[in-house]
Parts: sequence; structure tokens; C-alpha cells
Amino acid sequence: MEKYYLEEERNIEILEEADVLVVGGGSAGSAAAIAAARAGAKTVLLERYGQLGGMPTGGEVILIPSMSAGKTIMIRGIMLEIMERLTALGGVCGPDKSITGSTDSSHMEKWKKYFNMTWNNEVCYGGYVDPDLMKIVLSQMIEEAGVNLYLHSLCCRAITDAGTVRGVCFESKEGRKAVMAKTVIDCSGDGDIFASAGAEFEIDLSSMQAASRDTDILHDVSRTASLALVYRFGGADYECYADYAATNPQQLKKHEENLQQIAGYALKIFPTSRNDVVWVDNWVLGYSSIKVKDITAVETLVRRTIVDVMDYIRTNKIPGLENIWLYDTAPQLGTRGSRRILGLHHLEMEDLYGQKECDNHIAVIPSTVNPAMPQVPSKIPYGVLVPITVDGLLVAGRCFSSELTVNSMTNLVTHCFAYGQAAGVAAAVAAADDVKVRDVDIKKVQTQLKKQGVYLG
Ligand SMILES: Cc1cc2nc3c(=O)[nH]c(=O)nc-3n(C[C@H](O)[C@H](O)[C@H](O)COP(=O)(O)OP(=O)(O)OC[C@H]3O[C@@H](n4cnc5c(N)ncnc54)[C@H](O)[C@@H]3O)c2cc1C
Repeated sequence: MEKYYLEEERNIEILEEADVLVVGGGSAGSAAAIAAARAGAKTVLLERYGQLGGMPTGGEVILIPSMSAGKTIMIRGIMLEIMERLTALGGVCGPDKSITGSTDSSHMEKWKKYFNMTWNNEVCYGGYVDPDLMKIVLSQMIEEAGVNLYLHSLCCRAITDAGTVRGVCFESKEGRKAVMAKTVIDCSGDGDIFASAGAEFEIDLSSMQAASRDTDILHDVSRTASLALVYRFGGADYECYADYAATNPQQLKKHEENLQQIAGYALKIFPTSRNDVVWVDNWVLGYSSIKVKDITAVETLVRRTIVDVMDYIRTNKIPGLENIWLYDTAPQLGTRGSRRILGLHHLEMEDLYGQKECDNHIAVIPSTVNPAMPQVPSKIPYGVLVPITVDGLLVAGRCFSSELTVNSMTNLVTHCFAYGQAAGVAAAVAAADDVKVRDVDIKKVQTQLKKQGVYLG
């Protein structure tokens, strides 16, 4: 039988009152905060951990997939600025911007070894980033934009009044406090704020439980059903490993099957921003990212198996990986899918196929990574960020309004940065015009996004 404790009523200090409050400083949240502040809004950002970036930094999801289609870089704005700053610091391994769309065989030869850096026999713009340098870059950009940042601040619930979100309560070393805002942008990835605000959402817990290990982990819909604790090995020679993988696919497949047997979950070796370090991405199925027992179990399971994985690789002398050692484990558990808001627009397959007219779009995303994805760029409508029922709230990041299969294709790091930037700008425009975010003048939002370097086609 469940037991309960009735919490006492108490006054909570209001720490700040802002135009825009962003919850979660991950891919979407960092972009939202920077964009809102640059658009002139008084902006506060609350992040539960000690760093910014979310999955690509704390989660060590270091692959920034293709931002281009042909010779056109479509993901621009804040994401592109980060890539340029990281490149200047030596923190990216990926094709130079100048060869985007190249079909030159020497470029293809080189970049084919790096997953997602080529597509349809063309070089793509993207890269494998250094997560620690990315934390530094994001920190600088947040400071430069004048965002009021609070790290180590876990947001626990929305403060609502008659169907409108007015702010958020958060917990820190100082206890529970509140930040009030004209618009709250939920960039928590898991939709913690919209769930507590009573907004309508969907989540596919049953597909998470049912996901089978036999599915195609990179491309199947069950991708969104998997959690991960990724890690990196040092002492590697990635180029040597990549040559081996290209010339011995059957042998590699056998090793991957054996490793899956040993670990109990699928895993794959990927490059990093350095040749001597490799990234072990993994797919742990059957758990939910919003159940504390489940996320504890995934952390424990992966840590229990790392040494056995490393021993197998060394003992079997997999070329390029004979002398590996554990470099680090990601400080942050990863999930590829969770709650998704039900928004004014629910992104569906036809949206991606470009079959629907769309003039209120806030991002254009190129099609790559997933062979099932239509091979035309997709316009993303503003309504995917706006909850149907609750006011004072926008939602950006992987928890945006979308059908499950579509979410799996459109929740990549680059996409989430784009959605975040759009949400930040929309909230700032709404604050300046003193209107609800659902009534914001989309043309003004698009103009401001273009001013911030965003590509809208
Ligand atoms: C293992 C793995 C591999 C992946 N591989 C790739 C890949 O190769 N390429 C790719 O593009 N995408 C990949 N993805 C998907 C991609 O990383 C995510 O979908 C995307 O980064 C999500 O961005 P987000 O901003 O929605 O969430 P996140 O980046 O997770 O950010 C959420 C932020 O909110 C914070 N937060 C959460 N709850 C609270 C709270 N209550 N209060 C305060 N702060 C909070 C978190 O700490 C975090 O900083 C992968 C995902 C995983 C897990």
C-alpha cells in the first residue's frame, strides 16, 4: 500500500521575475536562453546540473549530425555559431565547412569512415565535438548574452494560475525558491514542467517496455525507447579501427553480437574529436527515463558491464582498440525519448514529406541519418512548440509535439538547438508585444530568427 506524507504549507522566496524563464540548459535550453536574451528579453535559465549542453556535453552525445543538404547549411543560427567557435578551439573532428556538399573522392574516402559525415555520396557539414570545450563555449555564450544563469537548480513544478503558467519552483542548496516569468520554456527534455502544469502530453511507456533487442537500434522507432550511459575509451586508433570495420563487416558484426551478449544491451564504437579516443554509444531497452528506479538501474547496469566490455575488446585484439583504457563515463544519463507535449501542431510524417503547406515555420531541417526519412528538407511549424491547453508556456527540445516515429527522426541535437532558438525568440517577441505566446506575430518571430542567422528557406 502506498503511504503519503502531507507537506506543510510555506512561503517561498521569489528569486527573480523575468520575461522569459528557460528550464533546462541542454541543447534546446541553451539556445532558447541565448536567443531570448539576444532578442532583448530579461531571461533566466535554471539547470539542474553544473554544466550547460545536456546530451551533447553531460550526456557525451558528441555526434553533431549533418546540418546540411547538398551545399546548403540549413541548421545555422546558434548551432552553427557553436560549431565555428568549437572549430576555432580545435574541438571538432568533421569536414571543413568549405567542402560541404563535395562529391570529391578524396573527401568522400576520408569522411565515409565517420558516421553521418557523408550522405548520398556527398560530404555533410557536422562533426564529432569535444564535450568539455562545448561546455566552455556555451558558458561563454550564455554570459555574453546576459542570461541570468542558475546551475545546480532542479525545477520541481510549474506555478500555475487558471490554466496559465506563471513561474516555476526549484530546489537548490538554498532550499526551495521560485522564479516568475511571462513565459516559461520547458526544455527539460522529459517535459517535467508541462507535466506538472497539467498540460496534455503523450508518452509511450508500453513501447519502451516492449522494445526488443532485435530491432534496428539506429533507425527503428524503438530508438526513442532506449536509454544510455555512454562512455569513452582512450588508447585507441580510430582510423585503424574504421579501416578494419570497413573491410571486415562480418567479423565486426560477430564482435558486436558477442559484446551485446556480454553487456546485455547493444553498443557501438564511434569516433570522437580525437583519433586516440573512441565513444561507446549504447541502447539500453526496457526502461523509462522518468522513473527513478529505472534510471538508477541503467546507471548501475552499464557501470557493471564496462570492464567486461573492455576486456573482451582487448582480449580479442580488435584492430585499433587493442590497448584501450577507460577514459571516462558520461556524467549524465541519456534518453532518446520521453514525454511529448500535445501542441497546436502535432508533427506527422506528411509534414516531413513537405506535403503540407507551411508558412509559419520556425526551422528548416535537412534530411539525413535515417534512411527512412524523406529526402527533402522539412519545415517545422511554430505550433509544435505551443501547448494546446496551457498558456504562458512553450516547449522545445525532444519533448516537442510530434508523433513517435517522427520524433525519432527529428529530435537530434541540431534539431533541438533550432527549436530552442525559435522558442526563445517567440517568447521574447511575445513579451515585447505583451501578447500570449499562442498569439505571437509569427512574421515578427521569423524576422527576428533571420536576424539571428537562422535559415528559413
Ligand atoms: C545515448 C544517446 C545518443 C544519441 N545520439 C545522438 C546523435 O548521435 N546525434 C544526435 O544529434 N542526437 C543524438 N541523440 C539525441 C539527442 O542527443 C537528444 O534528443 C537531444 O540532445 C535532446 O535535447 P534536449 O534539449 O531536448 O534535452 P537535453 O539535451 O537532455 O537537455 C535537457 C536539459 O535539461 C536539464 N533538466 C532536466 N530536467 C530538469 C529539471 N527538472 N530542472 C532543471 N533542469 C533540468 C538537463 O540536465 C539537461 O541539461 C542521442 C541521445 C542519446 C541519449
